[in-house]
Amino acid sequence: MAAEVDLLIVGGGITGLSLAVHAARDGLSTVLVEAGDLGGVSTQRSGALVRTHYEDASSAALALRGLELFERFDERYGGPSGFHATGFAYVPTYDERDAGTVGDRVEMLQGLGVETRVVGEAEMGRIDPALDISDVGMAVYEPRSGFASPALTASTLTRAAADAGAQLRSQTRALELIVGEGGAVEGAVLAGPDGVPTPLTAGNVVLCSGAWSPVLASTAGVELAIRPTAVKLAFVERRGPFHLTVIDAPAGIYLRPDHAGSTLVGRRTWTDEPMGSPDAELPAVESDFLTDAAARLARRIPSAAGAQVVGSRAGMLDMTPDGLPLVGPAMRDGDTVPGLWLCCGWSGTGFKTGPPVGEALAEWIRTGSTTLDLSSISTARELEPAAAAVRSPH
Ligand SMILES: Cc1cc2nc3c(=O)[nH]c(=O)nc-3n(C[C@H](O)[C@H](O)[C@H](O)COP(=O)(O)OP(=O)(O)OC[C@H]3O[C@@H](n4cnc5c(N)ncnc54)[C@H](O)[C@@H]3O)c2cc1C
Repeated sequence: MAAEVDLLIVGGGITGLSLAVHAARDGLSTVLVEAGDLGGVSTQRSGALVRTHYEDASSAALALRGLELFERFDERYGGPSGFHATGFAYVPTYDERDAGTVGDRVEMLQGLGVETRVVGEAEMGRIDPALDISDVGMAVYEPRSGFASPALTASTLTRAAADAGAQLRSQTRALELIVGEGGAVEGAVLAGPDGVPTPLTAGNVVLCSGAWSPVLASTAGVELAIRPTAVKLAFVERRGPFHLTVIDAPAGIYLRPDHAGSTLVGRRTWTDEPMGSPDAELPAVESDFLTDAAARLARRIPSAAGAQVVGSRAGMLDMTPDGLPLVGPAMRDGDTVPGLWLCCGWSGTGFKTGPPVGEALAEWIRTGSTTLDLSSISTARELEPAAAAVRSPH
């Protein structure tokens, strides 16, 4: 019997919404279900950095495509994303600088088409006088990168998906996957606002469901090493104009300006704060975290010394052991599971890659292959055991 729809997407954050737009535009009959409100959980709390400096080629290729899509968001999706090209600097660790890994990485990125280069202290002073990189003496600069607005991005994608013919069902939870003879996934049992479990058959089911994905995947015998992990942000009063968006590896922070007159600061490396369940309450952001974030910021942007902390927020990441996402056909006992796809485990870096991964997955599902090489984020890779100290790319 033919499935009711070609594609069922579970999760209405940036990845699910983007996939819905691209799949529906590519002619797949598409239903997206979202347990809460469209716009996602991690998506609406995101720092929303849009930059291309990655250590692995697949993430960099996706991020580059993401940057291109954010630069032409209105044209591609019919509305704004709030993208602002502040320029971006990656300040390397002393070890990276001394071992020459930065130069090799920049060459790899340039080979992919990323506009980026190593700059010294003097040139950085001309690009952005607010930044002090005298401790390291160098940084990697990307002129086109910056940040976007999670709310604008999600609402534009929502409209674009509906306009393309995708059916978007909010307040609708996928309870379990429907597994046919031979183990193929053939749809899911859904519960809408009335709570009545209703099956929907689909040719393909994609889990864009963040830290909830392991629970759903397990109903088809698929084990996923994804842990819900708490993360925190500080907002510090900004005393000058927009500065660069920065990943500061020696200080273990990332930062960017915002439109409310502050600088958003997040920790790039921190001791893991596992949440027992993705439904658990987010932790409070304690004052020690805020003081520490403000002090780290002031070392990189000296004009922030003594600036007031004006806000904070916590969020949840869907961490994999190696900090890279799982994108592609789901695997069970070493074999792909027909009908089931993964697009989760973004580990704090899935905002910028939301639009391009939707594009790439729609192509993969429709044609059996992707133009972008996604091998370093493959679902078939071996995952190393989780470490206690977490590093999220952002
Ligand atoms: C504080 C913070 C800062 C960040 N900073 C950056 C950054 O600077 N740059 C960057 O690129 N990324 C960043 N990220 C990460 C990025 O925001 C996320 O990786 C991205 O938003 C993930 O999108 P998603 O669609 O996969 O997940 P989500 O937005 O979490 O959406 C998943 C959705 O699935 C739904 N769902 C789950 N289970 C079910 C079910 N059974 N049935 C129906 N629906 C279900 C959930 O309700 C949720 O809405 C940050 C994240 C946080 C929290």
